[in-house]
Amino acid sequence: MRQVIIIGSGPAGYTAAIYAARANLSPLVVASSVEAGGELMNTTEVENFPGFPEAIMGPDLMAKMQEQAERFGAEVLYDDVVSLDIDGPVKKVTLGSGTTHEADSLVFATGSAPRKIGIEGESRLSGRGVSYCATCDGFFFRERVIAVVGGGDSAMEEATFLTKFASKVYIIHRRDELRASKIMQERAFKNEKIEFVWNSAVVDILGDEAVTGVVLEDTVDGTRRELALDGVFVAIGNDPRTHLVHDKLQLTPEGTVWVDGRSSRTSVPGVFAAGDVIDPTYRQAVTAAGSGTVAALDVEHYLAALGEAGAPDPAGAEIDGLADAATLGR
Ligand code: NAP
Repeated sequence: MRQVIIIGSGPAGYTAAIYAARANLSPLVVASSVEAGGELMNTTEVENFPGFPEAIMGPDLMAKMQEQAERFGAEVLYDDVVSLDIDGPVKKVTLGSGTTHEADSLVFATGSAPRKIGIEGESRLSGRGVSYCATCDGFFFRERVIAVVGGGDSAMEEATFLTKFASKVYIIHRRDELRASKIMQERAFKNEKIEFVWNSAVVDILGDEAVTGVVLEDTVDGTRRELALDGVFVAIGNDPRTHLVHDKLQLTPEGTVWVDGRSSRTSVPGVFAAGDVIDPTYRQAVTAAGSGTVAALDVEHYLAALGEAGAPDPAGAEIDGLADAATLGR
């Protein structure tokens, strides 16, 4: 049996793994079979992760985090968790390959998944012109006319990246003001290939075999019009990935996993959560990494208390405050 299993391999999961491995907890990281590395694997240059003044490519940053975790003894499995049994003191994690792993504690760091618009044509044409990942699919739209839906940093980043391939990129936003940070906005405004379509909601995606256009509804006067397009990139935010724990862990009204104050303690003793799956607000690589640190420190305290008591605290892992960093030998 393991001391800790970490589910998720984004900045939160790998940072938890680095700290847990350095604390000699030999963590097992379940990294996913298709999405190992998390959201940053779909990102180009990361310009705001401290320590990389010249920026670093998202996949390179994740490879470094994994390497750092493995260097201290973390074991990474490319598999998917299909079910969890977390009520008792022994946490059981069953994987897609059919194996079940057991541990005294769990860190749940499953991140978030791209939000869907939820309209006709979207899932039917997914992979046939509808995409949620510019870095994955941008290449297929050389000299094509495409649109990015959304007004946040993701939409600006995707649109700017897509101008490397497309002849024209519309940014379709439901308001007349962007949510994106000023630097990302300015970059998009300056780009001659980008045209903004304000106050517009995509209400239908057209095409039989492939995308041919969208139907836009004016969010001010309700009028509708068609816009001819070869592709639609949806970048309207992410939703926390909680499907494995819906009926097992307490969730917040925003749909994230509930944690106790500034800790990573969930509603179930011995289960800790970190990263985007607990964060409805900040959702940055660096805040996720910090949150992974908190989870590893909380795990360490939980296991120490478990060792002293010989059994988990039935009242709910009453381990106050954050762990003393000195115990990790930093
Ligand atoms: P976000 O900030 O939540 O923005 C989502 C955008 O999509 C908003 O403009 C929103 O419109 C729009 N939207 C939401 N639901 C919609 C719907 N059903 N139909 C049409 N439009 C919809 O999400 P994000 O851009 O993915 O960014 C998430 C976090 O990651 C943010 O904290 C961001 O700063 C960060 N991020 C940072 C970088 C970077 O620094 N390089 C890059 C990417 C993301 P409203 O504005 O009207 O709500």
